[in-house]
Amino acid sequence: MLRAVVLGAAAGGGVPQWNCGCRICRAARDAQPELRSTQASVAISADGEHWFLINASPDLRQQLLATPQLHPKAGELRHSPISGVILTNGEIDAVTGLLSMREGSPFTIYAHAKVLAILKANSIFNVLNEKNVRREPIEIDRAFEPTLPGGTPSGIEILPFAVAGKGAWYLEGKAHPGGSDGTGDTLGLRIRDKATDRYFYFLAACAEVTGELKARLAGASLVLFDGTVWRDDELIAAGLGTKTGQGMGHISMSGAQGAIAQLTGLDVGQKLFLHINNSNPALLHGSAERKIAEDAGWQIPADGTEIVL
Ligand SMILES: [Zn+2]
Repeated sequence: MLRAVVLGAAAGGGVPQWNCGCRICRAARDAQPELRSTQASVAISADGEHWFLINASPDLRQQLLATPQLHPKAGELRHSPISGVILTNGEIDAVTGLLSMREGSPFTIYAHAKVLAILKANSIFNVLNEKNVRREPIEIDRAFEPTLPGGTPSGIEILPFAVAGKGAWYLEGKAHPGGSDGTGDTLGLRIRDKATDRYFYFLAACAEVTGELKARLAGASLVLFDGTVWRDDELIAAGLGTKTGQGMGHISMSGAQGAIAQLTGLDVGQKLFLHINNSNPALLHGSAERKIAEDAGWQIPADGTEIVL
């Protein structure tokens, strides 16, 4: 059985964001603590014992504390059930949690060469000694099976594929350590349990649903999809920023080209939004936007939501 635990469902900054006084962040601080959410990451396992993280969020320490499946095994002095981390991009909210995994436990980082180049160019990541923490390049459209400590196959097959998106925000206008050519900065993943052949998709960043992507997602048991903004100009309209969703490489939930409309009618078992920004009104229980999403078959998950396929 394939298990996926949503460790965090929020976009960069989380809910509430440290410096934000928008209505959702204010509600999350005070009257509605159930709105609180940490920055996006998912843990997956085929055996319920060994786990892989998809992205390592800045909130990783808090997420691990809240997730008993990821605690050290009873009776072990030093241990972690986490065998590896698969990175889908080089954004702050996807990689900085690696720095909280620096106490000498072995694991493997799987990432595209462009993202590995970012880690290599930032010497602070050298705190993860490559003797303990291997860095494995992954390639677009080439499936791989992450391994458990000792090299045992995990039983999980992961297929990375390119999706429309943007490179890391902090590299905008700067030289990319991995070169400016080609894709690899934004990956989607198909995650398949080799024993049962059941699979799901992870796309925490996606700027556009193409016909090719629709064909890919059709028939999946579960899709975790980019839910950053409700509408493209949301940050601007709320006075919170100057960028559109598209300008950040994220599709909106609403609108004719949005995720809800574009993924309607596909044969998908469960649809969950992930990477939801604190400006997004679909976070609010009882909001018209949340109702539209839920009526279209989407879930807005709380941190800790576990799905078994
Ligand atoms: Zn806010």
